Amino acid sequence: MQHLKNPLLKNLHKIEFPVTYLCTGKCRHCSEADKSDFKGHIRGDAAAKLVADVSAVYDIENVLLFGGEPLLYPNDCFLIMSAAREAGVKKRCVITNGWFSKDVEFNCKTAEKLIGSGCNRVLLSVDSFHQETIPLESVMIFANELERLSPGIVKLNPAWIKGKNAENPYDKKTTEIVEKFTSMGISENKGNIIFPAGNALKYLSEYFEPGKEYINPYEEDPMDLRTLSIGPDGSLLGGNIYRENVFDILSRYKG
Ligand code: SF4
Repeated sequence: MQHLKNPLLKNLHKIEFPVTYLCTGKCRHCSEADKSDFKGHIRGDAAAKLVADVSAVYDIENVLLFGGEPLLYPNDCFLIMSAAREAGVKKRCVITNGWFSKDVEFNCKTAEKLIGSGCNRVLLSVDSFHQETIPLESVMIFANELERLSPGIVKLNPAWIKGKNAENPYDKKTTEIVEKFTSMGISENKGNIIFPAGNALKYLSEYFEPGKEYINPYEEDPMDLRTLSIGPDGSLLGGNIYRENVFDILSRYKG
């Protein structure tokens, strides 16, 4: 069946799912903290169908899962990653804090299943903020297992106030944590610079310049949408994938 492409989506190349807003962490820089009242999670079957349907029409290069902590719902993550692989999507990525259960054996088994389902990149959120509440040892075991099964699959994804070796206590601590992983042979992404939203506004305001306009790096041009972002409740661009055909939602999108 042919679908007319909405011109506002002509550059669409990525589908992302905040799988849930629930999380095992309580990070003081978290931009999503004010969303955690929503206790649900994405339905893997519906999300997998969306990935298959949309990838058949648009040139989707990237499917991304994050949260909250997405691996609190591993089976739904597996379904989505598997659909992405079957659809020929090149980048199939999960962002995780690496601590979704206290059972280390379960976490290692999940690492194996995640790779088996088609995930080919794990961005590991490790830094001074995450490690205030998330035990580093357990995360290292999970990362080690991923790397043992698929060398190079893990990339560190730290959050910084200013950047590596900057003169503030958070970045100094993050630099130390990152070095622990790089000494295990795990490489790092440049990570994210924290912007004032959610918890960061409440707890880290002293690090933001008053009056300065900060740009949310995740904000998209609504007239040239490159990413479809589906909420844990199935919401998408004013519609809902649980109740409607995704192409009905996409075709009525007006920015
Ligand atoms: S920053 Fe990530 S790990 Fe930390 S509380 Fe927020 S969603 Fe959870």
